[in-house]
Amino acid sequence: MPSVEGNLQAPTRHPIEWRDPAFYDEAALAKEQERIFDICHGCRRCVSLCNAFPTLFDLVDSSKTMEVDGVAKEDYWKVVDQCYLCDLCYMTKCPYVPPHPWNVDFPHVMLRAKAVKFKKGDFTLRDRVLTSTDAVGKLATIPIVVQAVNGANRSPPLRKVMEKTLGVAAQAWLPPYAARHFRKSAPPSLRWPVRDGERTPGKVAIFGTCYVNYNEPSIGLDLLKLLDHFEIPYVVVDKEVCCGMPKLELGDLERVEALKNVNVPMLAPLARDGYAIMTAIPSCTLMFKQELPLLFPGDDDVKRMAEAMFDPFEYFVARERDGLLDRSFKRGLGKVSYHIPCHSRVQNVGQKTREALEWIPDTSINTVERCSGHDGTWGVKREFFADAMKIGRPVFRRMDEFEPDFISSDCPIAGRRIEEGIVQDGEARKARKAHPLTLFRMAYGID
Ligand code: SF4
Ligand code: SF4
Repeated sequence: MPSVEGNLQAPTRHPIEWRDPAFYDEAALAKEQERIFDICHGCRRCVSLCNAFPTLFDLVDSSKTMEVDGVAKEDYWKVVDQCYLCDLCYMTKCPYVPPHPWNVDFPHVMLRAKAVKFKKGDFTLRDRVLTSTDAVGKLATIPIVVQAVNGANRSPPLRKVMEKTLGVAAQAWLPPYAARHFRKSAPPSLRWPVRDGERTPGKVAIFGTCYVNYNEPSIGLDLLKLLDHFEIPYVVVDKEVCCGMPKLELGDLERVEALKNVNVPMLAPLARDGYAIMTAIPSCTLMFKQELPLLFPGDDDVKRMAEAMFDPFEYFVARERDGLLDRSFKRGLGKVSYHIPCHSRVQNVGQKTREALEWIPDTSINTVERCSGHDGTWGVKREFFADAMKIGRPVFRRMDEFEPDFISSDCPIAGRRIEEGIVQDGEARKARKAHPLTLFRMAYGID
């Protein structure tokens, strides 16, 4: 192995060979983990990112040899359990990612380990329930059931029972379910003419997402109002299921494929027909843009769909550069503490939401770019909740000390976690939580 310090080329990513039986070979996995762990032990650059690296380095430092060869292979699972696949180590820190010959892809070796674990049946009912966002959302939002579920989620005694039986931390805030789904409340688009720009298609297809559909439809409705305001015709995708990110995090790759087989036949024709495809949730956008193409590299439909995916603010900023976006705001927002979630950062599109929020007059933005500690379903699990709050604490503090009028994150789950952290840290809740799309709608004076 040539010893080259650092990488001067743009990172590339190899497809995930998950259909190859060797992918599930435990001995081969342990060998690859040992190789990568050894490089990480010599580097230690990622120590502050999450608990996976401190767990690994503690195991090494307390072993007899004080090297990776002194760590028992069964202890590797402790590292795997601490990784929530945010991708930050790969995308923002590691100088040894491909095309560097050391070929370090820490998140993907963690994903492989999670897939091996899942295949062995090593998961709980809690893991299945938390990652079934679509099925649980459908069930929880049945009229009458929705009030009962929201009541139970707010009831400390029932949450204690849930913690014991399901392993969901009793203190963790859970998002309430909405009485009416986004997909049922979305109005049809007005008949605007299609104006394609150099960088932006002139029509948009919206993938609702489980969170927007079942928990916060207002975020999706705000996106539709903005598109109407900008005179951009839209459609809401006819049929959709979960994007598959929660199942990916569980290592259930067969289920990821089953979900892809429903979504992609809906999305690929829209991409071919010239639509920009958008979701309001960064994790779902990332799943379509990056993870599915790596899992299904030969699939032309996946490729076309991924090429058409836009983060909403990536689209708005590109649309503005095309000279096709109105910037006549009606009101300022005061002080906004804005958080960039990991799954927005790793899309590699720059800080587009910050850029767009900075267009708003009489508004000052405090940008915080660090993990909030929620990380999909990881941060509400009983065994990880305390660590998750610890990871988020610097974010809670930096968001709050700006004394903002609004706190905001592209990831609404991170936004809720930040609000929860500020309250838990004993601060009076002065700021209102609002998604950046909601802030944008307000600044344009749209009701
Ligand atoms: S992907 Fe995220 S959670 Fe996993 S090891 Fe890297 S930084 Fe930590
Ligand atoms: S993932 Fe890369 S940067 Fe992070 S500790 Fe390992 S070798 Fe170092």
